[in-house]
Amino acid sequence: MPPIAVPIVNRDLIDADASRTGPRRVLFLDRDGVINVNHGYVHAPEQTDWVPGIFDLARFARKAGFAIVVVTNQAGIARGYYDVGQFERYTRWIHDQFEREGASLLATYYCPHHPDAGIGDFRVACACRKPQPGLLLAAARDWRISLDSSVLVGDQPSDIEAAARAGVRTRFLVADGNFAAAQDWLTAAMEG
Ligand SMILES: [Mg+2]
Ligand SMILES: [Zn+2]
Repeated sequence: MPPIAVPIVNRDLIDADASRTGPRRVLFLDRDGVINVNHGYVHAPEQTDWVPGIFDLARFARKAGFAIVVVTNQAGIARGYYDVGQFERYTRWIHDQFEREGASLLATYYCPHHPDAGIGDFRVACACRKPQPGLLLAAARDWRISLDSSVLVGDQPSDIEAAARAGVRTRFLVADGNFAAAQDWLTAAMEG
């Protein structure tokens, strides 16, 4: 089984959160179809259209005390459409945009594999490609996350299944930036 790919991490945010105590609550976000409109194998700023409402949701989560972690399948790497370096540069650009919007992302965890369409070492049945829970479990280990009190927003059944298998109790399947239910849940979580 290949190891989990090294995540892209926001070092500044770790320092800012250094004084916190207790386990983190996290808003897990899928990327394609939740953060950026899914045009297929998006990997550059000029291909990026934001899903309406995503920055509002992210700001809201931060205010409610949640860290934000992106968990994304990137079969485009496996297929050779773009490489890890391109993906990392693009991910840092996404992190910068969220920063500017006042909604810092803690980290992006990704799966570069595909079980049958991958090239070379990327062609592998891994434990991280959703619906497997590997990305979420790795994040939980790295950041002392309480999965039980965290939440995931995704646009595919495989996102929901990965979260369920990881033990994330609250999951929202959304289309076209329909984040209202997730936002309501965050409001309740903040008050409770
Ligand atoms: Mg998606
Ligand atoms: Zn994988």
